[in-house]
Amino acid sequence: MSLDRDAFFIDGGWAAPATSATLQVVSPHSEQVVATVPEGSPADVDAAVAAARRAFDEGPWPRMSPEERIEVIQAFSGLYAGKLAEMADLITTEMGAPTSFSNLAQSPAPWMQIEAFLGIARAFPWEERRPGVLGPEVVVRREPIGVVAAIPPWNVPQFTTVSKVVPALLAGNTVVVKPAPETPLDGYLLAELLAEAGVPAGVVNIVAAGREVGEHLVAHPGVDKVAFTGSTAAGRKIAAVCGEQLKRVSLELGGKSAAIVLDDADLAATMEGLRFVALMNSGQACVAQTRILASRANYDAVVDALAETVAGMAVGDPADPATEVGPMVAQRQQERVEKYIALGQEEGARVVVGGNGMPDGLDRGWYVRPTVFADVDNRMRIAQEEIFGPVLSVIPYDDVDDAVRIANDSDYGLAGTVWTADAEAGLDVARRVRAGTYGVNTYTMDFAAPFGGFKASGIGREFGPEGLGEYTEVKSIYPTAPAM
Ligand code: NAD
Repeated sequence: MSLDRDAFFIDGGWAAPATSATLQVVSPHSEQVVATVPEGSPADVDAAVAAARRAFDEGPWPRMSPEERIEVIQAFSGLYAGKLAEMADLITTEMGAPTSFSNLAQSPAPWMQIEAFLGIARAFPWEERRPGVLGPEVVVRREPIGVVAAIPPWNVPQFTTVSKVVPALLAGNTVVVKPAPETPLDGYLLAELLAEAGVPAGVVNIVAAGREVGEHLVAHPGVDKVAFTGSTAAGRKIAAVCGEQLKRVSLELGGKSAAIVLDDADLAATMEGLRFVALMNSGQACVAQTRILASRANYDAVVDALAETVAGMAVGDPADPATEVGPMVAQRQQERVEKYIALGQEEGARVVVGGNGMPDGLDRGWYVRPTVFADVDNRMRIAQEEIFGPVLSVIPYDDVDDAVRIANDSDYGLAGTVWTADAEAGLDVARRVRAGTYGVNTYTMDFAAPFGGFKASGIGREFGPEGLGEYTEVKSIYPTAPAM
């Protein structure tokens, strides 16, 4: 079945593009074109924003009760649940995520988000009465913000789209989604499911396009809030525009998370955990634990165990269920990772597994060899900059205080983990590391809890009641005149 498309989803239907520009979706495994879709232009974005604006200013969606909106999103959730395999396959096809990862995180996790947000919306204080100070009570309401521009990256395209669209809709906003140019296909299936669930025309509009059209959307006067996931560099630019225009903005940005391996950790169990949390999605994950911190006493044992684990990972065709590490999303990303592997060697780090060149048995596709560096100093660029590929650095520490210091010696503060037999010691480390989410002997995002970054990893939170609150304006009403 052809995956080609010739329209955008605007105002509840399929709209012809304003220009003849196209995006070619290329398989990172075969390097063959797998689909051609229209590329959004500023005029397409203008049409999408106009539809969202009308739907917000005049349409039923913001005027429905939260319960009525919950009912529609509940129907959407049911439909989404029936398409998990198709959605996962689409994402593996367009960006090369191993199917083992896609069937866990690329579509089941977004569906879990939807269900979690439904529960949160049911219990959310949309309108509450509080005892007043001057009068007997005040009314506090959470109202929608308006038109939301949702801008996801390519690495977890549905995960980062659903995390914005669903809370935005539950709160009564309307949305324009701009998928990344590498991953436009999953947005079409999303559009079909939203339409089938009965989301009214104009409430969600989807136009895939590149960075410049993204800039046009961010600066558009018809947009009231920008919800962005992507690189810290792009996040800074978007925040500057939103600051100037006083637009609401939430930013989920990059990371360089540290996994602290304490000496009492079960090394085999730690390696089982790290092979996923350090290398999931072929290392193209914002929360990837890419700095592995080991005590000097335990350093060689950790390096050896990690080298053995990484050397044993199955690299290859992402459609093969056994594959753990697939290709990079694009040739540009392959080159970027290779540049960092060369840089690590120039900086004096030691390659213990991997290095540059194609993985064994592969002669095409945008693959890199999963690589572990030892003898890494935390001030090296490979330890400070987000590589976004399967490249790990093992960094020695003197004691637990030193490990916490190194973990915190980063511009980023997105996530972290600690591996230990002592749950209390783990919790103590978790409290001291400056990061928005933290795992003890695991890293499992729980959608009941807020997710987001400290420092250069972002502003605002997704998930949990906090994530829903990001799509609301808070209004206070004083219903009675105070007794003066
Ligand atoms: P990117 O910043 O290049 O692009 C992200 C999206 O923003 C794309 O849709 C792109 O077209 C668009 N864009 C880029 N510049 C823009 C601008 N100035 N104005 C408007 N839109 C713009 O990032 P990427 O390479 O697609 O994704 C990888 C990055 O995303 C990594 O840094 C990763 O850590 C981050 N990420 C963060 C999270 C999180 O939740 N914190 C999750 C996934 C990915």
